[in-house]
Amino acid sequence: MIKVAINGYGTIGKRVADAVAAQKDMKVIGVSKTRPNAEAFVAKQRGYPLYIADISKKAAFEKVGLTVAGSVEEMCKAADIVVDATPGNVGATNKPLYEKIGVKALWQGGEEHELTGFSFNSSCNYKDAIGRQFVRVVSCNTTGLCRIIHEVDKEFGVTHVHAIMVRRGSDPGEIKKGPIDAIVLDPVTVPSHHGPDVLSVLPHISITTMAMIVPTTMMHMHAIQMTTKKTVSKEQVIELINKHPRLGLIKKSAGLKSTAELKEFAMDLGRQRSDLWENCIFEESIYANKNELCFFQAIHQEADVVVENVDAIRAVMGMEKDAAKSIAATNAALNFKTIQNNH
Ligand code: NAD
Repeated sequence: MIKVAINGYGTIGKRVADAVAAQKDMKVIGVSKTRPNAEAFVAKQRGYPLYIADISKKAAFEKVGLTVAGSVEEMCKAADIVVDATPGNVGATNKPLYEKIGVKALWQGGEEHELTGFSFNSSCNYKDAIGRQFVRVVSCNTTGLCRIIHEVDKEFGVTHVHAIMVRRGSDPGEIKKGPIDAIVLDPVTVPSHHGPDVLSVLPHISITTMAMIVPTTMMHMHAIQMTTKKTVSKEQVIELINKHPRLGLIKKSAGLKSTAELKEFAMDLGRQRSDLWENCIFEESIYANKNELCFFQAIHQEADVVVENVDAIRAVMGMEKDAAKSIAATNAALNFKTIQNNH
C-alpha cells in the first residue's frame, strides 16, 4: 500500500483523498487543514487523520471536537508521497520541507512548471514520471486540452491548435470571488497562459489560446479549432473519443447544450460530488472538414485533475509502469465509465 498524505484539504485535496482511499494499492495516512471548518469535519467523517499546518492552533481544533494527529511535518514524515493541494504559490513554499524529509511530492497546476521541471498528464507522459521525486500535475484546463490534443495528434498529426477558454469565475463554494456581472478577459493579451502550459506536457504542439472569465461556477467551456496533417472525419473523431478512458462524448440523445444541464446529469447519475472526471465533448459540435476540426468541450475544473493525481502517485512510486493499466485501475476503483456509457 502506498502511504499518501494530502497537504491542503480543499477543493482538490478532498477529492484526491477520496479517490486515493478508493484505490486498492494506496491509502490516505493523513490530510492537513489550516483551520477548523466544515472540510475538517468531512475529514473526520471519512476517518482521515487530521494534521495541521500551524500546531499552535491545535487547541482551536480540539475545542470543536476535532482530534489533531500532529503537525504537517509529522504527516509528511509518515508518508511515501505527499499530494500538495494547497493554494497556488503556497505549494512552492512547502518544497524545502519535502526536500528536507526526502519525501516524494506532487503539486497542482497553480504552481509553475519550473518548481518540479516536469508536468504530468496520464495519457501523454506517464512513463516519463516514473521514479521522479517531484512532479506537477497540470491544471484543469491544461489537462482537458492535453488529453484531446494528444489523441488527435497521434491519429491525424496536429498542425496548429486554436483554443478559446470560457472559464468559470469561481468554484461553487467560493463566495468571495467574481465576477458577478462581467466578462473578464483573462488576460487581455494573447496568448493566455494555457497554450504555453500545454507545451510543458506536449512541447512539439503549435497552439494559441485565449481566455475569458464569466460569472458561473460549475464548469469551463472550451471552443477548440485544430488543423491537422491528415484529413479528418467526424466519425473518426468520435471513434477516437470512445476509445479513450477519459474523453467523454455528450451525445445528441442526451439533449444537453449547457454546463448546467451537464452537471445536473452527473448529479442524477449519482456521480460522487457530481464530479465529471472526463472531458465532455459535445458530439453535435464536432465539425470536421478536410484538415479542420472544431468542437466544444466542457471541463469540470474541480474533478478532471483528481484522477490524474492518482495515476501520478502510481507513476512516481514506480508501482505501475504501464499508463493504460494505471488509468484503468484508477477509473475502476471510482466506478468511473465515461459519460457516453450512460446514454
Ligand atoms: P482551495 O483553496 O480550495 O484548497 C486549498 C486548501 O489548502 C484549503 O483547505 C486551505 O485551508 C489549505 N491551506 C492553505 N494554506 C495551507 C498550508 N500552508 N498548509 C496546509 N494547507 C493549507 O484550493 P484548490 O482550489 O483546491 O487549489 C489547490 C491547487 O489546485 C492550486 O494549485 C490550484 O491552482 C489547483 N487547481 C485548482 C482547481 C480548481 O478548480 N479549484 C483545478 C485544478 C487545479
